[in-house]
Amino acid sequence: MIFLSSHPICWLNLLFPNVPPAPGMPCAGEDRSIYRRGARRWRKLYRVNGHIFQAKRFNRRAFCAFCQDRIWGLGRQGFKCIQCKLLVHKKCHKLVQKPCSNEHVDPVEVKDDANGESTLGRASSVRSRAEPEPPLPETPPAPAPPAPVRPEDLEPGSQRQYSLEDFELIRVIGRGSYAKVLMVELKRTKRVYAMKVIKKALVTDDEDIDWVQTEKHVFETASNHPFLVGLHSCFQTPSRLFFVIEFVRGGDLMFHMQRQRRLPEEHARFYAAEISLALHFLHERGVIYRDLKLDNVLLDHEGHIKLTDYGMCKEGVRPGDTTSTFCGTPNYIAPEILRGEEYGFSVDWWALGVLTYEMLAGRSPFDIAQAADNPDQNTEDYLFQVILEKTIRIPRSLSVKAASVLKGFLNKNPVERLGCGENGFLDIVNHPFFKSIEWEMLEQKQVVPPFKPRLEGERDLANFPPEFTDEPVHLTPDNDTVIADIDQSEFEGFEYVNPLLMSLEDCV
Ligand code: ADP
Ligand code: MG
Repeated sequence: MIFLSSHPICWLNLLFPNVPPAPGMPCAGEDRSIYRRGARRWRKLYRVNGHIFQAKRFNRRAFCAFCQDRIWGLGRQGFKCIQCKLLVHKKCHKLVQKPCSNEHVDPVEVKDDANGESTLGRASSVRSRAEPEPPLPETPPAPAPPAPVRPEDLEPGSQRQYSLEDFELIRVIGRGSYAKVLMVELKRTKRVYAMKVIKKALVTDDEDIDWVQTEKHVFETASNHPFLVGLHSCFQTPSRLFFVIEFVRGGDLMFHMQRQRRLPEEHARFYAAEISLALHFLHERGVIYRDLKLDNVLLDHEGHIKLTDYGMCKEGVRPGDTTSTFCGTPNYIAPEILRGEEYGFSVDWWALGVLTYEMLAGRSPFDIAQAADNPDQNTEDYLFQVILEKTIRIPRSLSVKAASVLKGFLNKNPVERLGCGENGFLDIVNHPFFKSIEWEMLEQKQVVPPFKPRLEGERDLANFPPEFTDEPVHLTPDNDTVIADIDQSEFEGFEYVNPLLMSLEDCV
């Protein structure tokens, strides 16, 4: 199994807290075919004159080595060389004449993201997301956190903001690579919501700030579609950001796949079709989703899907536009991203191919049964090589139409991929695998889902993994030294209340 046994601090240990009987053996309750994998964003590196620049956030005392101006203000576009530590504006970095003084330094082996998973040997190795930038000399004290807005401070008629005190924290329901998700109750209305909590310390540079803004924008856009999780409100404390979002009661597809192993074609068709509509909605609004996977697809109480987690999205993409950030969850990353090519909406259709394969076959198209025993095949690089080169074998038990749709989505050439041609989404709608789907009815939630999650009452958590729901629900108290390193001005304006949901609440 790709990541499993050889890394001692494997992130899977967080999810399967048991100790295996021997190294490399599965833990109790662990299904080795399908498991949760963290999304990643590899930092972009910009190479000029031997320097290797990365986007960084700087405080007021940082000056550009090229133009001598402050690196501060709107956009805050600063670059820092990861070798010689030279600081420049983004706009100046290509003009830097001075060669890097530290060129001989070997690329550092660095740790990436909150999972403690390491990225070895890739040119795009990255610094830890969790590791805050060391303060520059003479750092002025961080500005005080914005005071929470209280209802009584607001002008009559202006919108009420929320704060943590408005919610009762009921249970932990999920964790991803960046966030912890809780089930909460809005005390005033007794309505239940999900609350996605992100530690500000994980938001360490310019690219991360964009990511938080994007997640918020897409949540807002998503509030208008039946198959996307919508936003209720956003607020912050000195240490954390909170997204209050629709609570989707049926759990995620990862949970269901781990119990059902594989799905009948009829079921997989229904989910793939609803997901296609959700992706198409996002694409039409200029958003590439970039993190489609089983753990980001939720089921509502009737069994309809809802996509959540917009932290990897790319906004503002017009038809024909491309982007190049190396990001996603390793098993679902499209070959064009791995090849370092510019890419567009095609990467989402690839990921839908991987996910549909997982639903139909009960395993990833890139699982190599013996890989766990061979350390050389137990690395991310090996997985990427398999995605790029291996011909995907479709289980013979699948129908001709299912095999054809999988081959269509899993075409390594994005130009020829299903959903990416001139007719775009229409080619998916008209594919023989989806012949029985009535697309308009489906979009209006008029098609009865093939599976209804078992639920006893609105707050039943039977569809969420006990490793989350058994966790204590409280948030750890703020740590003053961590907070001192956070530049609170980065998060100004994060507060938000969805006017639509507010008026609904006033009706109760
Ligand atoms: P991350 O960005 O860290 O991956 P996610 O937004 O994907 O975080 O949330 C982590 C997990 O929490 C999901 O895989 C899912 O199981 C659960 N979850 C997220 N949002 C909701 C929601 N609105 N309702 C119910 N469960 C949710
Ligand atoms: Mg997620």
